[in-house]
Amino acid sequence: MTFGMTVGLLMVSPRLQWAAWGAPQGKAPHQHFVCNTGYTLEQCRKDMAVLQRALEKYPVSDLGEWTWVLVLSADWRAIQSPRGLHPNSPAFAYYLGKETFIEEALVAEVPGRCFELKSAWGMSIEKLLDYAIAHELGHALCNERNEAQADRVAKSIREGNAASCEVNLQAKRRLLEDLRHSNSHGAFK
Ligand SMILES: [Zn+2]
Repeated sequence: MTFGMTVGLLMVSPRLQWAAWGAPQGKAPHQHFVCNTGYTLEQCRKDMAVLQRALEKYPVSDLGEWTWVLVLSADWRAIQSPRGLHPNSPAFAYYLGKETFIEEALVAEVPGRCFELKSAWGMSIEKLLDYAIAHELGHALCNERNEAQADRVAKSIREGNAASCEVNLQAKRRLLEDLRHSNSHGAFK
C-alpha cells in the first residue's frame, strides 16, 4: 500500500468511531474522536481517555466541528513521511478535513518510540502531549501556518488566555486560498 494520498486513504480506512461507543461528548459537543485502523477497542478507549483528559483545559470547542485521530506508532512513519514531516513530529493537522492526527506514543507507553521522542524534544511525554496540543491549536484556532506564530498562540492558551490571532482578514483570506490549493499542512515541525 502506498501513502501518496495519505489523507484520502485514511478517510476511507475502517476506523474505530469513538463517538459510536458513547464517549462523553458533553464537554466538547463538536469534537469527534477516532482511532485509526489497527487499534483495538480496548486500546482505543484507554488511549483516547488520555487524549481527552489532556484536551480538557483547552478551548477546543472554539474549533467547531473537529476530529481527533489517534494513529498507532507502528503506522505513524508511513503516514507522516510522505507529508514531509520531521520523523520526530508526533502530531499534525489536516485543516481542510478539520482533523488533527496524534501519534500513539503521546498517549501510551510505546517502548523505543517514547524514548526517542523524549530525547528529541527534551521533555516528558506528558509535557510533549500538552505542547503538541497547544501548538496544533495555535495553528487551527488562528488559521495560522507560521510556526513561530502558532507557538506564540500556543503559549498564550497554555497560560489560560484566549487565542489572540494576529492575522489580518486579508491575509487570512489569502491563507484560505492557499489551503484550498494544498491539501495539507505539515504542522508541528
Ligand atoms: Zn506547526
